[in-house]
Amino acid sequence: MSDICNASNCDQPAGGGFICRDTLVELEQYLAETPWLVHELTNALSKQTRFATQGGGASKGAPATDARLEGVAVQPLIINPDASAALASLAHTLLSWQANLADTVGQPVRYPKPAQSTAWLMSNLEQIRTFVAAGDLYDEIRSAFNYGRNLIDRPTERRYLGDCGSEMEDVYCPEPLWGRDKEPTATCKTCGTIWEQPARLLAIREQAVTGLNDRIMTASEAAGVLVAYNLTGDADEIKMTDRIRKWAAQPKDPTKKPKLAKRTDLRMVGERARPGYKFGDILAILNQPRRTA
Ligand SMILES: [Zn+2]
Ligand SMILES: [Zn+2]
Repeated sequence: MSDICNASNCDQPAGGGFICRDTLVELEQYLAETPWLVHELTNALSKQTRFATQGGGASKGAPATDARLEGVAVQPLIINPDASAALASLAHTLLSWQANLADTVGQPVRYPKPAQSTAWLMSNLEQIRTFVAAGDLYDEIRSAFNYGRNLIDRPTERRYLGDCGSEMEDVYCPEPLWGRDKEPTATCKTCGTIWEQPARLLAIREQAVTGLNDRIMTASEAAGVLVAYNLTGDADEIKMTDRIRKWAAQPKDPTKKPKLAKRTDLRMVGERARPGYKFGDILAILNQPRRTA
């Protein structure tokens, strides 16, 4: 272990790892915002995309369709070479570090899509902190992220702020919280709690330690995260929720245990309790090699 954080832009004490907790939190931020950046860069690839998506499937976080644009002629395809280079560099950087870390921790899995490699890296934050090449990993991901980020002319729309975590009369809210740049507060879409953004950024410093793997979610929340990170193949959120519930159902043979164990009950504001599962358990089942029956 080294005494000083190995990130090239940081000289804080490393605190028993190779990068410090502040740097780790910053890395989590880049990773969490990567699916958004990939989406933006993909749109920037061609001007046609913006028009072609009018009336298409409702992708999460996409800007509301503007009725005035309907009927506008589709623009000629203009490829933006910078956006294409930025996407390639981001995908390559993420995959190579995902692969490198995965081999180091003895879980040789590969996630070639940026959204998947970031999700995997986010669920292994603690391993990154104590990974001998953590400084290089951070430097390269940061530079690939910023290269792409600088090509997007709009201000950052969504900023990941960790789980809401509000508690009202013993009811815990596990909804992931998203804020908008330049707004002082963020409002949870599930429970309506209004949070100060600067305070939330401090709070995820604590959450970064646990990473996604240890978070407890309901079947539908876990499905939402898996779909957002493109980890479900072609299953949509509803199918994925179903699949998770089936894994958790008691098999007909009473001597057998369900594939997926319930960890606790989660109570949503104004709703009945729902079973909570460990996200890491769900990922593990999803990553099992498929057997052909
Ligand atoms: Zn640092
Ligand atoms: Zn909430």
